Amino acid sequence: MKFTIVGGGFGGVKAALELAKNKSNKITLITDKPDFQYYPALYGTATGYSHLQSWVPLGTVFADKLNIEVVIDSVETLNPEDKTITGKSGASYSYDNLILALGSVTTYFGIKGLDQYTYGIKSEAEIRELKQHLYEEMAVNREVEKQYVIIGGGPTGVELASALGTYIRRLRRRYHLPYKRVGVTLIEASPRLLPRMSETTSAKVKKRLKKLGVSVQLAKKVEEADADGLMVSGKPLASHTIIWTSGVANNPFFAANAKHFELSPNGKVVVNKYMRTKDDIYVIGDNAFTPFSGLAQTALHDAVFISKNFKRKQQNKALKPYKVVKPPVVVPLGDKWAAFEWKFIKLYGWPASLIRRAADAVGYHDILPVGTALGVWRTQTEIEEDYFAPTPTKK
Ligand SMILES: Cc1cc2nc3c(=O)[nH]c(=O)nc-3n(C[C@H](O)[C@H](O)[C@H](O)COP(=O)(O)OP(=O)(O)OC[C@H]3O[C@@H](n4cnc5c(N)ncnc54)[C@H](O)[C@@H]3O)c2cc1C
Repeated sequence: MKFTIVGGGFGGVKAALELAKNKSNKITLITDKPDFQYYPALYGTATGYSHLQSWVPLGTVFADKLNIEVVIDSVETLNPEDKTITGKSGASYSYDNLILALGSVTTYFGIKGLDQYTYGIKSEAEIRELKQHLYEEMAVNREVEKQYVIIGGGPTGVELASALGTYIRRLRRRYHLPYKRVGVTLIEASPRLLPRMSETTSAKVKKRLKKLGVSVQLAKKVEEADADGLMVSGKPLASHTIIWTSGVANNPFFAANAKHFELSPNGKVVVNKYMRTKDDIYVIGDNAFTPFSGLAQTALHDAVFISKNFKRKQQNKALKPYKVVKPPVVVPLGDKWAAFEWKFIKLYGWPASLIRRAADAVGYHDILPVGTALGVWRTQTEIEEDYFAPTPTKK
């Protein structure tokens, strides 16, 4: 069978790997970047740890998979009538079986100034920009901010808040700046952190962040950003380092091709019990309107699910319907501390941090052969100063 997969992230790569197990399958994976991005590690790379934990070249991921071809292009237009999809390059790709796994994008909810005056950590380019800014501010202008501000009390925001203070203190020593207290403020619009987890976990995480010196501001609305800082629930908050970790929306490809999809109120694609749309296209991962969409483990689960059904189809067996699985969630907060939740189990502190380390090892192995996965996993604890070599600014 021939498969065209769009998206080289968790869902797309896993689907390609599963389908490639049948050597007679031919898979074309179209994606806009040459690397697989391991999102759960981005906050580590943003705070001075190895970049190797966050990006793995697709060439490495598919090194021994001769029936997978990778095409770098950004898809724009879907034409189910003639079973083609068109890329930004102008190329048109015909498909037999199409799997869409394009992931999410950042949104600023229309809040004035956020796109211009805040930093992000969701890609290599964003992390590079943040590091260049910190270099200019600290090494060139010899300044340490009074407040480093993170917006968004979801997993990415709290993970980053737990690590940013330590990183800034390390940079302060590296650039030989005089001692100054480093303030980290975390702003969240809802009344508690990690709103998708239990209230007990929210309270424990808040306490942990307080212990790490983070000032947590809950039920506070960011109204505007400008060159001097933020307006938060009517009060100014001065900072030149503001990191936006909130605001996730479905990939704009689906709104642009809306006539071919039924979209849910949050813009995700409604799929049937086989993860298919009305035009017989498969939509998985963050793009699909499923209860736990928005998690890497859901994207992996979806990819395995559709691949197994393709195998059943090839063996003339009956297809199985989609089973919703609630993935465990484990959020690391600084050295040897994490919060873990799964069904009725809740764990905090050192045991949960061990679970997180193990979960990352499994996460890499979901995509990479065991030796490569362990090699990448080991880099998670390696401090790296020079990969994002800052550009010296002329004064
Ligand atoms: C900072 C951060 C931290 C996270 N931490 C965790 C965590 O700890 N645990 C967890 O379970 N989940 C986590 N998530 C969520 C998780 O990463 C996503 O749910 C998961 O990546 C979804 O997989 P996907 O395949 O749907 O999309 P993605 O993995 O995002 O892959 C989409 C791919 O499509 C490509 N693409 C996009 N548009 C186009 C186009 N037009 N044409 C071609 N290619 C395109 C992208 O470049 C990307 O390669 C985190 C997310 C972020 C942003």
